[in-house]
Amino acid sequence: MGVMFDTDAFYKASCDANFVKVADIARNIAWTTQTEWGKLQITINLSKPEKDPRAIAAAAKAGPSEKADYIDPATGRARPCPLCVTQADVDCGYAKRIDLAGDPWALWYSPYAYYNEHCIAMSWEHRPMHIDRAAFESLFDVVDALPHYFFGSNADLPIVGGSILSHDHYQGGRHTFPMEVAPLSESFDMPGFPGVQAGIVKWPLSVIRLRGANRKEMADAACVILDAWRDYDDQSVGIVSHTQDVRHNTITPILRRNGDAYEMDLALRCNITSEEHPLGVFHPHEELHHVKKENIGLIEVMGLAILPPRLQQVMEERSMTRDDVGHAFAQVLEHAGVFKWDEQGREAFRRFIGVL
Ligand SMILES: [Zn+2]
Repeated sequence: MGVMFDTDAFYKASCDANFVKVADIARNIAWTTQTEWGKLQITINLSKPEKDPRAIAAAAKAGPSEKADYIDPATGRARPCPLCVTQADVDCGYAKRIDLAGDPWALWYSPYAYYNEHCIAMSWEHRPMHIDRAAFESLFDVVDALPHYFFGSNADLPIVGGSILSHDHYQGGRHTFPMEVAPLSESFDMPGFPGVQAGIVKWPLSVIRLRGANRKEMADAACVILDAWRDYDDQSVGIVSHTQDVRHNTITPILRRNGDAYEMDLALRCNITSEEHPLGVFHPHEELHHVKKENIGLIEVMGLAILPPRLQQVMEERSMTRDDVGHAFAQVLEHAGVFKWDEQGREAFRRFIGVL
């Protein structure tokens, strides 16, 4: 599969039509902080308006070139679901229609981009997020079609997923995230997959990186890891895969091309809660909530913090410098890691690798 459309032209048209709010995005505050995990990227997002019903009502009265992702371009009304696409979106040039894994999807650029050429691919059908073989196949399809973009999916469970679990979607774009340049701390073989190089990424979250040129072998290897992880328990480090029928383990997958090979990062996630950590054991703990208490989704997993405007005030009140916030974000990511970087955590990670 080659490029399905010219992303340069589509992106430029989206900016020119003000679908991508270039001027608003320019107001965001951004910096990097050097940490033991590399240079983390921090943004305070001043561009995206709060979801105030009055703002939605005002936007509904605006012309078609003023629409945002919550506004239906055909009717000017707020969308019942922010990711439900209509033919009107395609007709007005807001969205492109694509096919992934035999299913109709659409792609548009995020109005309030968090990074360069931040795009969202969403299923045409309104259906929940799911991490499974079909999701991996769709990621390979979209990266094959747009090999200059990465694509990844949020996890499909609360606490460890993104803010929208109800509509199947991926995020992509042209940006190098800190996780992508993080090295492997160790390599391992996956039995039955001689063409796949596997390793543990030196990263605060628990990430397995697969690299290989054969798409089918890569997808099969990813499925082996997902299947094993879904049912994996390790009480010694607090990993609980199920409470009765409720599933806690899932994966945040990211796929990109690297030269002739595919590179896939699989972040292992577990949304178990406890009395001590009612919002999540592998979630930023209370002492970090002044910086971050929302879900750690795909983009933050990769090392780009999206912080709300209130952070400016927090920094003033607590006399925090930008680097203090950057280091707090590193801790946020450490809390989200299921296998910590102490001896016990490393041994536990190797025990999981041992069952693959
Ligand atoms: Zn929807």
